[in-house]
Amino acid sequence: MMLGAVLSASGGRVVPTPSTLERFEAVQPHMGTLARITVFTADAADARAAFTAGFDRIRALNATLSDYLPDSEINRITRTAVGVPVPVSADLFTVLRAAQDLSVATDGAFDITQGPVTRLWRDARKTRLAPDAAALSDAARRTGYRKLHLDDVTRSVAVDQPEMALDVGAIGKGHAASEALAAIAQLGVRSALVAISGDLAFSGAPPGQRGWRIRIHDGDLPDPRVPAVLHLTHAAVSTSGNSEQYLDVDGRRYSHVIDPATGLGLVDDITVTVVAPHGLEADGLDTALGVLGVERALALVESRRDAAALIVHRTKDGVRVVPSSRFVELARQ
Ligand code: ADP
Ligand code: MG
Repeated sequence: MMLGAVLSASGGRVVPTPSTLERFEAVQPHMGTLARITVFTADAADARAAFTAGFDRIRALNATLSDYLPDSEINRITRTAVGVPVPVSADLFTVLRAAQDLSVATDGAFDITQGPVTRLWRDARKTRLAPDAAALSDAARRTGYRKLHLDDVTRSVAVDQPEMALDVGAIGKGHAASEALAAIAQLGVRSALVAISGDLAFSGAPPGQRGWRIRIHDGDLPDPRVPAVLHLTHAAVSTSGNSEQYLDVDGRRYSHVIDPATGLGLVDDITVTVVAPHGLEADGLDTALGVLGVERALALVESRRDAAALIVHRTKDGVRVVPSSRFVELARQ
């Protein structure tokens, strides 16, 4: 790829011009799904270094944040911090702080302390049997974001009662995608994209392009303001909906997203796509907006300067397409 290339020296390091960059891609299983990293680098060795940095960051975050691993930091903390503040890692604290802020902003519609409830629904999706009502109400007694306390000064965490469980499944993948991207940027790579299933984070545009081509929907939406593809740089995009994980019971489809007010999976067919500067915000918001329902969701996203959202609500009467004003702006660019 050196054909006609102009190389310029900067600080003793040869910086390739965009025309000398090649596209490299790698896929690995992470966080219960597939993670894909795409980079534009001068050669395969630089790409390999970027893949290692990105995947290592995702693996480390998963070891901290996964509630599937009995001894992850997030699982240990609900055992050790009952009634006493316990210091946690910066990685865990960052995620818990973002989650709690979102709980306050949504009046508890977003709530990572729903762990005992989300576990019952996870089992239910495996057995294809609705969770037992008594078990659900027992689990609900061990939830509530006000029972989780964070101290920003000592970076410590406390919980109010035993047998609570934290589930950051709504926010962890988007966060990890942005963090992997940051690790790759530290190596000097300017154009990269990290995708952990539906959660994307990307930096500068691929060479010769005005942005990354991000497919927002399948192209069947009856709204001319909402193209199927956006061209974006330096952002994170997350999508939440019940298209992949759900449980069908007696003709109702329950999403893996829980309404904390009822302890039940959402039954409305709402798909939310959020564009924000960081995956922590994009992934948290997509889930939160889904629980809030269209009107409250739109109000919340309009109140956040950096975020844009597309809400698609399908009912038997048709499809309602609700883009936030910032989303319409992004689509025009
Ligand atoms: P996906 O995992 O498909 O990207 P989401 O980002 O919407 O989807 O995250 C869904 C996950 O969030 C659930 O599997 C569960 O772990 C968790 N969760 C479910 N309901 C809530 C809620 N009300 N608040 C916070 N997290 C939730
Ligand atoms: Mg989410």
